[in-house]
Amino acid sequence: MIIVMQKNATDDQIKKVCEVVENAGLGVHISKGSDVTIIGVIGDRRKLADKPIELMEGVEKTVPIMEPYKLASRTFRPEPTVIKVGDVLIGSDEFVIMAGPCAVESREQLLEAAEIVKKCGAKVLRGGAFKPRTSPYSFQGLGEEGLKILAEARERTGLPVVTEVISTEAVEMVAEYADILQIGARNMQNFQLLKAVGRTEKPVLLKRGISATIEEWLNAAEYIMNEGNFKVILCERGIRTFEPMTRNTLDLSAVPIIKHISHLPVIVDPSHGTGHWRWVTPMSRAALAAGADGLIIEVHPNPQEALSDGPQSLKPENFMLLCEELKKIAPIVGRRI
Ligand code: PEP
Ligand code: MN
Repeated sequence: MIIVMQKNATDDQIKKVCEVVENAGLGVHISKGSDVTIIGVIGDRRKLADKPIELMEGVEKTVPIMEPYKLASRTFRPEPTVIKVGDVLIGSDEFVIMAGPCAVESREQLLEAAEIVKKCGAKVLRGGAFKPRTSPYSFQGLGEEGLKILAEARERTGLPVVTEVISTEAVEMVAEYADILQIGARNMQNFQLLKAVGRTEKPVLLKRGISATIEEWLNAAEYIMNEGNFKVILCERGIRTFEPMTRNTLDLSAVPIIKHISHLPVIVDPSHGTGHWRWVTPMSRAALAAGADGLIIEVHPNPQEALSDGPQSLKPENFMLLCEELKKIAPIVGRRI
């Protein structure tokens, strides 16, 4: 439920309403718009059944949130959420490029990739230390050793780091090293894992499940937010369809839809979304034009030798060209890089 205050409501009136809500054992989230203030009520609104909120001074009306996801909805918070990671503002007019290899393979590989993506204009470094692979015989990642290498790359380049966490037991450890915790597509409905990252204070990059609807995806975000962590960045990474020419079908229509129904930032992963480096550049341009808040792109110093996702990884020179293009397009669509 949200409580919409009157246009001329005073700070004191807002405070009193919040007190009533909190005394009923519920949380509040205040959104101060240019026109009106909205108080989002966190928790079961039935606890307010005997509290005549609508009769309180300064209150315009109360509105139930009809969507199954509450905290992630635009109704709950009308203005966009902006998430600060280092000096980067995800969800603002800044278009944030995250890039790096699929997996941390060695110190040399990751440090080289980090220097390259930074030089081209990436603001966040990606790299998986724990890899959720389709086959148990594929490279599974370097684990904590990989996290240490990521931390060293951050130290050297100043780039914050996004890396995946695949188990509840590892959340604490990964959170010690990472600036953004990535929840992979395969784990989008791993509710225990969602709750565990929701109990941390780190921003969470929540990838869309391979066959998840937008509503299921927002409900997954809700699991994280319901634990108190509102710093959720959604990531469209393609869904499984009947089309075999691409690894997944990149659902770019999800971008404007999410922007309309949720306040959370949304970025696009054209690497997993297409599965082939050749389609990464055009889909990146399209993602920027569609209103995404950023991209996460796989870049490898030498894709032919990559231990995972080589075919969809950009070579440094192609990533450089892509960033140059995006820098030209961004101002046309009201963004800056
Ligand atoms: C990845 O980012 O390398 C990855 C495994 O992504 P997804 O979970 O989207 O498949
Ligand atoms: Mn990958």
